[in-house]
Amino acid sequence: MSDKGAPTDEEAATLRDRLDRDAKQGGYNLNPDKDFTLELARGLLINGSRYGYWACPCRLADGTKDKDLDIICPCDYRDRDLNEFGACYCALYVDDDIRDGKKQAKPIPERRPSETERNRVGPDKSLVTSKDATAGISGLKYPVWRCTVCGYLCAREEPPLVCPICKAKKDRFERFI
Ligand code: SF4
Repeated sequence: MSDKGAPTDEEAATLRDRLDRDAKQGGYNLNPDKDFTLELARGLLINGSRYGYWACPCRLADGTKDKDLDIICPCDYRDRDLNEFGACYCALYVDDDIRDGKKQAKPIPERRPSETERNRVGPDKSLVTSKDATAGISGLKYPVWRCTVCGYLCAREEPPLVCPICKAKKDRFERFI
C-alpha cells in the first residue's frame, strides 16, 4: 500500500494478474480490458483493507461480513449473470464471446435481492440448507446438477458455465435431482 493506504498500481496489477491466472485455471475469463480490471482489482484491495474481505467493488457493502457474504468476490451472483448476460455485475468476469471481442459487455441489472428481502429470507445461498436436508429430497430449494464428465454435483438454479473440477462445459451437465 502507498503512504496514504491506497493500493499502488503494482499491487493492483499483481492482484489482477493473480485473478486472471485463477480464472483461467477455473475455466473462467477475466475481462480482457486490462485498465478496467486494474481498477476493479484496486477496488477489491481497498475493500479488503477497509472490511477485511473482498467485498464487490461495484456494490455498497454493509461492512459486516455476515451481511456481505453473498457479495464477497466472486459473488453468489457471478455465474447466473455470466449465464444470462455474459458478464458478472462488475464485468470483471466475462464469457468467451466478450473475451474474444465478439460482443461487448453491457450494463446488467442488479440480481442481488434488496436489503429488505435479504433480511426476510437470508442470503441468496445456492447451498442446501439443513432445513432442506431434513425436509428430504422433495424439499430441496434448488435442483441438483451433475457433470456427466466427472460426476461433480452442485445445487443451484442452473449448472455452471464450466465444471470447476474437470472444466467440462455447461452442456455436459444433466439434471440429477
Ligand atoms: S460482480 Fe463480479 S467483481 Fe463483483 S463480486 Fe461479483 S464476481 Fe466479483
